[in-house]
Amino acid sequence: MGVLEELQGIVGTENVFSDKVECMAYSRDMSVHKGIPDYVVFAKSTDEVSEIMKLATRERIPVVARGSGTSVTGAVLPVKGGIILDLHLMNKIIEIDPKNFYAKVEPGVICAQLNAVLAKQGLMFPPNPGSEVIATIGGMVSTNASGHRAVKYGTTRDYIKGLTVVLANGDIIQTGTIAPKSSLGYDLTHLFASSEGTLGIITEIVVKLEPKPEYGALSVAVFGDLNKAGEAVTEVITSGIKLAGCEILDKFSLKVVEEVLQKDVSKIEALLLMEADGAKDVVIKDMNRIGEIMKAHGCLEFEWSDDPKKREEMMLARGRLVPTLSRIRPGNRLIPIAEDLGVPSTEIPNTIRQAQVISEKYNILIATFGHVGDGNVHTTFVADVRDRQDWERIRKASEELVSIALKAKGTLSAEHGSGLTRAPHIGLQLGNSLELMRKIKALLDPL
Ligand SMILES: Cc1cc2nc3c(=O)[nH]c(=O)nc-3n(C[C@H](O)[C@H](O)[C@H](O)COP(=O)(O)OP(=O)(O)OC[C@H]3O[C@@H](n4cnc5c(N)ncnc54)[C@H](O)[C@@H]3O)c2cc1C
Repeated sequence: MGVLEELQGIVGTENVFSDKVECMAYSRDMSVHKGIPDYVVFAKSTDEVSEIMKLATRERIPVVARGSGTSVTGAVLPVKGGIILDLHLMNKIIEIDPKNFYAKVEPGVICAQLNAVLAKQGLMFPPNPGSEVIATIGGMVSTNASGHRAVKYGTTRDYIKGLTVVLANGDIIQTGTIAPKSSLGYDLTHLFASSEGTLGIITEIVVKLEPKPEYGALSVAVFGDLNKAGEAVTEVITSGIKLAGCEILDKFSLKVVEEVLQKDVSKIEALLLMEADGAKDVVIKDMNRIGEIMKAHGCLEFEWSDDPKKREEMMLARGRLVPTLSRIRPGNRLIPIAEDLGVPSTEIPNTIRQAQVISEKYNILIATFGHVGDGNVHTTFVADVRDRQDWERIRKASEELVSIALKAKGTLSAEHGSGLTRAPHIGLQLGNSLELMRKIKALLDPL
């Protein structure tokens, strides 16, 4: 029996593709890389995943796990061919325990769908990447994804209590506990989480839940001076106000969404969106205090609202930014290459300014926006990937951005992960701990 027939025997004929055209459909993610699998296999249970891994190890076939394929780093691409193990059919919410604040889910559950179910019980799973309506919990766990709420609630890693993992040899292990805390043994849960499918396939996840806040409000502040915006945010955060979100758009980003904003942005250097949630009286007090701090730092305009419709309008420019960027010039597209820098929050204005200088130096549009409260700067290139000269300039500009993040003692990736994109620079940040990571990989997956 050949590999195809064995795979069909494990998951059923209808759950394996090997046709070249169908496999091509799995050759891309949101990065600029590509890799074509030989087989696409849809698993429905932990036991099926185990059988697939045993077969792949025996036949020395690489396996790449896939959630929804929204990776922006090429992490989900089979660059050496082999099997794409698509887990979207494993999409059951197995259990919700509202008294002990946890849920057990399969990896293919979509983040927003989980939150829609939890909301009915007054609960939430806080990490909310911009891709929450499509990203799977398995993909989020594997990349330590996060969203604008990370400044208050943390990242996906903070919400994983335990995992079921299938190892390369097909063994099935359980990590973690549903107890609120544990001090037993190595923390394997968090070793597998963030490992981007390189150490094993996650087939069940116990996630930690939070009560849904009773009230929320959003404010917008407009600044003519980027540094003053940065100083204002620092004062808000150090004054004890627990922001639930804090986004920044730089002047290049604002230019792109000028029409949506319906204002002349030529004199604006930064727009801040600050969110607070919790008890109503506390949030109202915080919003008024934020307004005072913004004004003390010279903001040009400030307003806040708790009205859901108004809040949607206030978020419109941020929401429209990425889709508008990808349509800005015919033939151009977003190029995620040094798009996810993480720096200490106080370094944000300086990092944005340096990105603007690099943008002008190389004549490449780099729109910068990000989660300023948690130090995450999305320096987003827009260029023509078919143009060799554009590529050469992108490469040089991205090298400079990488060294800015490292000089600030930051990270090459705050939330998107490593994938293929960070490969050329990963050693610069990880140093000799990269060698230890390679040994862990070799131990768990010797082939
Ligand atoms: C428009 C857009 C906005 C985005 N916004 C954000 C954001 O705000 N914050 C953020 O953090 N990211 C963001 N991302 C990136 C991406 O959505 C996240 O990394 C997300 O967590 C990936 O989920 P996924 O289901 O698509 O995983 P995939 O892309 O399918 O996989 C991601 C990685 O996880 C591995 N993997 C997936 N499932 C498993 C499993 N069960 N076991 C082992 N390994 C597995 C894959 O092999 C791959 O290495 C955005 C992407 C897009 C396109």
